[in-house]
Amino acid sequence: MKRLDTDVVVIGGGSTGLGVVRDAAMRGYRAVLVERVDLGQGTTGRFHGLLHSGGRYVVSDPGSATECAEENAILRRIQASAVEDTGGFFVTLAGDDPAYADKFLAGAKATGVPASEISVKEALRREPRLDPHIQRAIEVADGSVDGWQLVWGAARSAEAHGAKVLTYHRVTKIERDGDRVAAVICRDEKGGEDVRINCTFVLNCAGPWAGQISEMAGAHPVEVVPGRGIMIAMNHRLVNTVINRCVYPTDGDILVPVHTVSIIGTTDIHETDPDHLPIPHNEVQQMLDAGEAMIPGFRKARALHAWSGSRPLIKDKRVSVEDTRHMSRGMAVIDHSTRDGLMGMLTIGGGKLTTYRLMAEHIVDAMNDQLGENRPCTTADEVIPGSEDRKLYTVTHRLEDREEDRLDDQIICECELMNRSMFVRLLEEQPNATLDDLRRQLRLGMGPCQGGFCAARAAGLACSEKAIDAERASGLLRLFLKHRWIGIWPILYGQQVRQTALDHWIFAGTLDVEHLPQPEEEIVR
Ligand SMILES: Cc1cc2nc3c(=O)[nH]c(=O)nc-3n(C[C@H](O)[C@H](O)[C@H](O)COP(=O)(O)OP(=O)(O)OC[C@H]3O[C@@H](n4cnc5c(N)ncnc54)[C@H](O)[C@@H]3O)c2cc1C
Repeated sequence: MKRLDTDVVVIGGGSTGLGVVRDAAMRGYRAVLVERVDLGQGTTGRFHGLLHSGGRYVVSDPGSATECAEENAILRRIQASAVEDTGGFFVTLAGDDPAYADKFLAGAKATGVPASEISVKEALRREPRLDPHIQRAIEVADGSVDGWQLVWGAARSAEAHGAKVLTYHRVTKIERDGDRVAAVICRDEKGGEDVRINCTFVLNCAGPWAGQISEMAGAHPVEVVPGRGIMIAMNHRLVNTVINRCVYPTDGDILVPVHTVSIIGTTDIHETDPDHLPIPHNEVQQMLDAGEAMIPGFRKARALHAWSGSRPLIKDKRVSVEDTRHMSRGMAVIDHSTRDGLMGMLTIGGGKLTTYRLMAEHIVDAMNDQLGENRPCTTADEVIPGSEDRKLYTVTHRLEDREEDRLDDQIICECELMNRSMFVRLLEEQPNATLDDLRRQLRLGMGPCQGGFCAARAAGLACSEKAIDAERASGLLRLFLKHRWIGIWPILYGQQVRQTALDHWIFAGTLDVEHLPQPEEEIVR
């Protein structure tokens, strides 16, 4: 068995875990992060893409509202390349109570969330697709944020401070020495061997799976209540500003422009198993209706892809377990020394991607306290690699880059303007990556064709660059198509059927993907 020694093992490679490993490494701890699959493949890759201004919580959850407003400003400073400054509107639709907007403005003032009312005329001038019958509009500092850029940026920052980030390492056991945590045992899912990581501290950042991890250490179960939400990406930016309904938080009340698409969401349903999250037909219809209420004609636009994610909410005694919509979005740090008599382990849950840096600060502060250390947090000040120029992301940035090199570099994915050298460079860095792993970082196949034109090109390129052989290339292509299909079939109607038929002809007809040379074993991850 391979052995490593470290001070801290961070479990979970979502936004929380990456924030935590970065923070711990910046405070001088030797830190190792382990993630069972790729970074940002849990909730962090299945969220709505909203950088909260805090507006959503000014009435329902004032503490979270203030945290969001403060962290929104910090993220724009330290991680600009992951954030687009779309701005946001809270709009009162024709049938909504216009008095809620007064409560909203009062809540915003009390919580320090910047918000100001603008005229309906001005809102419609800036977002002409909005329902012309809206009654009121309030402007806030919402943005959109790319969860994968965010986690990979934090990983590079952590590594620059000496941390190790191990993807495809699944925790199978936590060993104790009496009442202390002593080691974490992982399975290297790609290398096929077990790895023992001796440590003095474990920080459990496994999101909706945090309960499973705490049980491995023999602690009393942590009651994580997964609150599932579905989202649908529409085939282009129907709006350029985040549109929120100005009502008490409910289902389907936010439309977020993210990269080349816009995302409607979300629902909030209590689930028991975060590994099996359905995308029910009735919820798809509910989201399309919700979009139509804000943007007339929404239903006629092409829905591209649907997915569901699970909020890592910690059970809240104030509300019933079934009622995840009204559970606090606030973060909770569980100290297993006082709760279970287990030294050297903390669990974190709740929170939002927007507050990932602050969540990390809280849990690493709690570890410091237990270890009797005084090492201050500096994560709000140091800029993350990739954001040194402090330029916020703009949707046109790849087009600008293309204009500089338009004759030199071949385009592989037209929808997302991903070129050959971007793909080859990342593949050289991560030779064991699947096409899905590369997709998350490059947005391969995430635009209107959903991989129809670019996936085969990417697989062929990986092969011609001799990064992989033909069998692996076709195995990866099949796996990629299988995963894309999960998010396509729930919204298979209208124009999307035509695109899917075309994709099917390309892959099954022209390329005969089912009968290409296959690797000896089907690739499953
Ligand atoms: C529908 C929905 C919409 C949302 N929209 C927004 C939004 O717009 N804006 C916002 O700010 N927040 C949003 N959130 C909240 C936000 O997405 C989450 O709070 C955040 O992503 C949680 O990150 P995490 O790191 O705690 O969990 P995760 O991202 O789930 O990370 C946990 C990780 O632990 C790993 N893991 C599990 N078991 C093991 C094991 N045995 N060994 C190793 N690793 C393991 C998992 O693979 C996973 O990657 C939304 C959430 C949902 C569900």
